[in-house]
Amino acid sequence: MSSLTTSIPATEPGAGSSGSAPYPFDYEGWKRISDSGAFRILADSALSSSHRIRDTAARMRELGYAGEDPGLLFAVATHLASTITSILRFGSPELKSALVPDLLSGHFVGAHAITETGAGSDVSSMQATATVDEASGKVRVNGRKVFITNAPIASHVVVYARTYRGGNDEGISAYVIDTTCPGVAVTANHITASLPHSPIGELELSDVTIPQSWRLGAEGAGLQVLDFVMKREIIYAFSADLGRAQKRIEDSVAFANSRRQFNSLLAEFQSVSFAIADMYVRHFAGTAMINEILSKIENNQDITKEVAAAKILISDANLQTAIEATHLRGAKGVQADSTSVQDVLDALAGPIYSGTNRIQKTRIAAMLGLLTDG
Ligand SMILES: Cc1cc2nc3c(=O)[nH]c(=O)nc-3n(C[C@H](O)[C@H](O)[C@H](O)COP(=O)(O)OP(=O)(O)OC[C@H]3O[C@@H](n4cnc5c(N)ncnc54)[C@H](O)[C@@H]3O)c2cc1C
Repeated sequence: MSSLTTSIPATEPGAGSSGSAPYPFDYEGWKRISDSGAFRILADSALSSSHRIRDTAARMRELGYAGEDPGLLFAVATHLASTITSILRFGSPELKSALVPDLLSGHFVGAHAITETGAGSDVSSMQATATVDEASGKVRVNGRKVFITNAPIASHVVVYARTYRGGNDEGISAYVIDTTCPGVAVTANHITASLPHSPIGELELSDVTIPQSWRLGAEGAGLQVLDFVMKREIIYAFSADLGRAQKRIEDSVAFANSRRQFNSLLAEFQSVSFAIADMYVRHFAGTAMINEILSKIENNQDITKEVAAAKILISDANLQTAIEATHLRGAKGVQADSTSVQDVLDALAGPIYSGTNRIQKTRIAAMLGLLTDG
């Protein structure tokens, strides 16, 4: 487990514009991961686009296995998907040359802002607006976004907002916003029980004016951009969880093979060894699902229901195995200095972020052809 540094001062590269209280963030860990070239894989011209995704997922898995903090790794997954992926795929040449090099080096930090207090799962009910001024060619963005991972340390946020042109609703679009722009206010949320070292915050946007060229994809096509990046966020974030789960299984085996009760090793009790075998079964299933998704990407096949299914299985398995590993340790598992309890708390968020598991099930149901609209 990496040691967490005290705080990232607002003047650090990538710090948000609020200048508010410093946010506890493992900036050294961020630097270690970015300096290792982990972000650069997504733009490696020696690799095909599908191999960039495959290699990035493999790196996330290694980082999870190595014991990097899960909050830090979620910040990394968000950075990779929210801005690097979306700008490389949907950005103008101007936007790419202005931002991508510093995003790849980790000097800039990316985030994406979809959620609002009244629009969680129901993304399309968002109230944030982007008003196009035909005369100036600029866009004015207004709204309030909540639960935004990386907001307190982000240099750039992809904001999703409903676009109005000449008074007409043109649908939701995605815009890159520099957090130092006038009209951007960032508030760091209190540290949450789950993923406490993943910086999270709110974004207040008041007449933030940006050029139209900072839009990603076509006007009104924001939900397509979101769909594309969320699939990548799920692959990266849950690959890290698979790495972590693999280490958890190994630690559980070592514990069961060393702790004695009733004159036997715990491993000799079938209910214990079967519980660890179940951890392996879930881990193997999740790994196979991610591998299948990566193969489908390579073959240009749709991955919608496969990503939804993998997200459900891996996040549920991560929580179940974290609880099981805690119980295996008996009282030691719940001692104040135990890492097992934090492991359970961190795993609790998995079924919620990147689209809740219930919403993923509605997606699968629709893809299976179930008449979900009545
Ligand atoms: C750690 C973390 C990081 C996050 N990072 C970001 C971020 O970077 N950017 C961002 O924009 N947001 C982020 N979020 C917010 C996240 O996207 C939302 O929490 C999520 O979309 C759910 O919205 P909600 O919390 O408002 O819950 P709600 O939508 O109110 O849902 C509450 C419950 O009702 C269920 N539910 C809702 N609608 C349905 C339905 N139609 N059918 C069945 N069940 C339903 C949900 O599954 C859930 O169990 C993050 C959240 C967490 C926990």
